[in-house]
Amino acid sequence: MTPSLARTLPAQTDVLVVGAGPTGLALSIALRQAGVDHVVVDKLASGQNTSRAAVIHAHTLDVLASVGVAGDLVARGLKLDTFSIRDRDQRLLDLSFGGLDTDHSYLLMLPQDVTEKVLADRLASLGGTVHRGVSVQALTQGDSGVEATLDTASGPAVIRARYAVGADGMHSVVRAAAGIAFDGGAYGESFVLADVHMDWPLAKPEVSLFFSAAGLVVVAPLPDGSYRIVATVADAPEKPDVADIQALLDASGPRRKAGKVLDVVWSSRFRVHHRLASAYRKDRLFLIGDAAHVHSPAGGQGMNCGLVDACVLGPLLADVIGGRRPEAALDLHQTLRRPAAAQVLGLAGRLTRLATMHNPAGRALRNAAFHILDRVAPAKRKIVMNLSGLARPQLAQLPPPRPALRRPAAPALLAS
Ligand SMILES: Cc1cc2nc3c(=O)[nH]c(=O)nc-3n(C[C@H](O)[C@H](O)[C@H](O)COP(=O)(O)OP(=O)(O)OC[C@H]3O[C@@H](n4cnc5c(N)ncnc54)[C@H](O)[C@@H]3O)c2cc1C
Repeated sequence: MTPSLARTLPAQTDVLVVGAGPTGLALSIALRQAGVDHVVVDKLASGQNTSRAAVIHAHTLDVLASVGVAGDLVARGLKLDTFSIRDRDQRLLDLSFGGLDTDHSYLLMLPQDVTEKVLADRLASLGGTVHRGVSVQALTQGDSGVEATLDTASGPAVIRARYAVGADGMHSVVRAAAGIAFDGGAYGESFVLADVHMDWPLAKPEVSLFFSAAGLVVVAPLPDGSYRIVATVADAPEKPDVADIQALLDASGPRRKAGKVLDVVWSSRFRVHHRLASAYRKDRLFLIGDAAHVHSPAGGQGMNCGLVDACVLGPLLADVIGGRRPEAALDLHQTLRRPAAAQVLGLAGRLTRLATMHNPAGRALRNAAFHILDRVAPAKRKIVMNLSGLARPQLAQLPPPRPALRRPAAPALLAS
């Protein structure tokens, strides 16, 4: 998508979307489809173009069908049936994502840069655009609207909007402007993330979580033949290289037939926080995606939850702006989506704690419990439903609109 010049920014709009990561792009598509006047800004001159989130779950794909991207994502991704938990060579638990009641009964592996490209292309096909190189510095809100102070290539600017949505990631300026707390903490370990080419001993493609005394290693194949590796380490190097990733696999991966890393396509390290915004709305300011919730990558839930946030908030804002729902219905965003994030945080936290147990007795107990669980089909199905997001469709479902008595008047701030 061609980046717009900052000088083409309108002075006012109905919805200002701050951030054009996956959630901001998905929200913009939803608003565009509904014919809502809106502006998307991002401080980066171009997208981040890094691999990061690599799995899209069934529920997310079901919901993304509403913004017309599910087919394209599926066509580019790699479908996997199995998510297995192992302790070195010992298989503890196999979870199958086949046979679920969805059009997307699999784990879809796809690097985040490809997901963002599919979203950006869809937005462009609808005539939408992102105003890049535009950073929101501050926001104020009154009874009638929001005013954002921007830093652009051609100098400071101001934009007024009825509503502003923070899709601006973990360090959200929108959240700060709204005075919304982001309670939680950070894990002690840091995480290494790498896409590598390697010789891998497991014949059947699957997402493998290796638990070991040394820490957690996740290995999953990507559509281009490379593998995604995520691992916990006490202190990760800034740019993990072949030797670093090999050492992680040697310490935590299969022992009898080990993987051999050939080269690193992309690598990074990051510290993982687990935080949930205390509210998703403060009057005219809204939060979605990482601005509202961050957590461990265990289970690959982060981007998924944000994409669903966007697909729920878009139609909700459209209905309120179009007079099909009363203003008070905007609280549905928080009523639906905050509990969804709370569930995801709980799930990712439990998985991370189980995966990073160091005490040998505790680890033996955990492994025994997984062996038993592996034979209890209903319990396994419950885990699959939670991981796939299919356990919470009601948290992505707006109730039928109940029209407002009259269309909300244009705010005085905008009319002035
Ligand atoms: C190294 C790494 C690895 C990850 N691995 C995984 C994984 O394996 N699985 C998973 O599910 N998730 C993973 N994540 C998380 C995943 O990348 C995020 O959940 C996802 O990117 C969130 O999307 P978002 O659109 O909410 O926010 P972001 O992708 O953070 O996008 C926010 C956007 O807002 C823009 N912005 C910020 N402030 C301003 C401002 N003031 N003005 C204008 N624009 C602004 C930024 O430039 C950015 O483009 C990983 C993240 C990192 C950093």
